Amino acid sequence: MTTTRPDLPAPVRLHALRKVHGTGESAVTALDGITLDFPPGTLTAVMGPSGSGKSTLLHCAAGLDLPTSGRVELAGHDLAALDERRRTELRRDRIGFVFQAFNLVDSLTAAQNVELPARFAGRRLPAAQVAAALDAVGLADRAGHRPGRLSGGQQQRVALARALATRPAVLFADEPTGALDTATGRHVLRLLRTLVDDHGRTTVMVTHDPAAAAVADTVVLLKDGRLADSLALRPGRLADNTTAIADRMARLEVAS
Ligand code: ADP
Ligand code: MG
Repeated sequence: MTTTRPDLPAPVRLHALRKVHGTGESAVTALDGITLDFPPGTLTAVMGPSGSGKSTLLHCAAGLDLPTSGRVELAGHDLAALDERRRTELRRDRIGFVFQAFNLVDSLTAAQNVELPARFAGRRLPAAQVAAALDAVGLADRAGHRPGRLSGGQQQRVALARALATRPAVLFADEPTGALDTATGRHVLRLLRTLVDDHGRTTVMVTHDPAAAAVADTVVLLKDGRLADSLALRPGRLADNTTAIADRMARLEVAS
């Protein structure tokens, strides 16, 4: 069961979000008026065709990029009201990211990779917190290993531990299983699901794979930068969910 807490404010709220990349003739409207909440303790999958605005949505929601207009509320803060320094602090302290490419530093151990963001910020994570983060992704016994000695799935789990070490309010993942084979990807997805269920970790994941999205609570479908559809899933019913998602995606294609 999910640990949704309707009494808590959504850690991420998007209101009338618009994002135009570039200017003049080369301007591209990537997001065209998105209003959406990501409720606490839930896993949301953001889907849609290539170029529909998924990554832009994630980057704006996470404060990595600023919208052209509209509002992003992150962990109770209106991002536009913060200056760059405070936005950076908010990202560092309250937000976790995982990308398709694991972005680990090859010369550092798994534990050192987990500690790295805090070190960049001139701080030290307590060793117990680093160990707990690696333990949560099932890699307690690999803390001293360098990424080159780990499998792809293990490397992505280190990246996940790094993202979670500061106990962020929200975890954003952009195609987290995109570089993994199916079985390894499934393992990482089950892990994401467990982190949501056991730790109430609000998670927003971009994926184009219906089978990956099937672990989510809710799927939102983007098309041409707009919210085209959304679908509530049934916990644990992976095969049914996959079919339902693929069906909605097909309908979206037909409608175009
Ligand atoms: P998705 O992740 O769904 O594939 P993106 O958010 O990456 O979509 O892109 C949405 C649209 O915005 C696309 O047309 C893409 O080409 C454009 N776009 C994305 N990032 C940039 C950028 N930095 N500069 C110019 N155009 C961009
Ligand atoms: Mg993308």
